[in-house]
Amino acid sequence: MATRRIDEVSFDHGAQYFTIRSDRFHDSLKAGQADGVIQSWNGEVVSLSRDGLSQRFQPATPRYAGVPSMNALPKAMAIGLDVRVDEQVAKITGDPGRWFLHIADRREGPFDWVFATAPAPQSSAVLPSRFAHHDMLGAVEMSACFTLMIRLDYDGSIPFVAARIDDPVIDWISRNNTKPGRSEAPCLVVNSNSMWADANTDKPLDTIRQKMIEAVRRYIPVAPSEADAAMIHRWRYANVQRPAGSAYLMDRASQLAACGDWCIGGRVEAAFLSGAGLADALREIIEASE
Ligand SMILES: Cc1cc2nc3c(=O)[nH]c(=O)nc-3n(C[C@H](O)[C@H](O)[C@H](O)COP(=O)(O)OP(=O)(O)OC[C@H]3O[C@@H](n4cnc5c(N)ncnc54)[C@H](O)[C@@H]3O)c2cc1C
Repeated sequence: MATRRIDEVSFDHGAQYFTIRSDRFHDSLKAGQADGVIQSWNGEVVSLSRDGLSQRFQPATPRYAGVPSMNALPKAMAIGLDVRVDEQVAKITGDPGRWFLHIADRREGPFDWVFATAPAPQSSAVLPSRFAHHDMLGAVEMSACFTLMIRLDYDGSIPFVAARIDDPVIDWISRNNTKPGRSEAPCLVVNSNSMWADANTDKPLDTIRQKMIEAVRRYIPVAPSEADAAMIHRWRYANVQRPAGSAYLMDRASQLAACGDWCIGGRVEAAFLSGAGLADALREIIEASE
């Protein structure tokens, strides 16, 4: 749930929206709904292909967005927590009940338990070899995605709020400024399709940017000045192709665990349910030991 800002324009360059299907997620979001941190994002979605616009539909499940930006929801959930950003854990060392996190040239700890919440391949890289579920982490398949962000001078001629696209390079275009609470400045968020992203993951970002702009122009006019200012972001682990099939991975003996959307499926709600399930399991262990 990521947002990038340029001047007064914001782009949700990660999750585009989320849906709420479970009671647990619904209940956890009541406060956010009351505070206006999440609001529904309505409007027709269309299906586009090179033959033109084939279908218009109102999605059956309401779509929600963070307000004024997608990252407003995790920010609200993190109030009161000690969250450190821009800290990359390089490895975890120690023993059960005495774990240390190695970050740049220092280590932090000891910690009783460590939960890895990074994508499966990155969690696998940092969790010690004694973690009992490395085989399940290794079986998870995730694919990449490139996201193109374009500020437009005018978007009044675009006949949709968002489009699913049948194209070899891109599969989604949304007008980010149509989400609630955004600036009116027209701006597009475009996602590549997974197969194309996987085949091109390590290509120079400028080449990717050009290819995606060419693809967008098959559907929407983009002026040279708008194309020149467009930004690109690479997500190495964006879509979950094969989930772990277990809501979280917990190793009670080593006091290590892992959770994330990749346990269940590539959706915001799946990430929440995985984390909530693991939190419940830890709470039970703590209560049993009291
Ligand atoms: C382009 C895109 C579009 C999407 N669209 C939608 C959508 O429309 N609807 C929807 O429901 N879902 C969507 N998703 C999926 C949704 O974003 C994910 O399901 C959700 O963000 C997963 O949350 P998470 O907490 O499991 O993992 P993440 O959000 O991936 O968070 C993992 C975090 O771990 C950090 N990390 C990794 N390695 C380390 C390390 N070594 N040390 C410290 N930190 C580390 C990462 O920086 C990251 O912040 C989309 C995803 C992408 C990429």
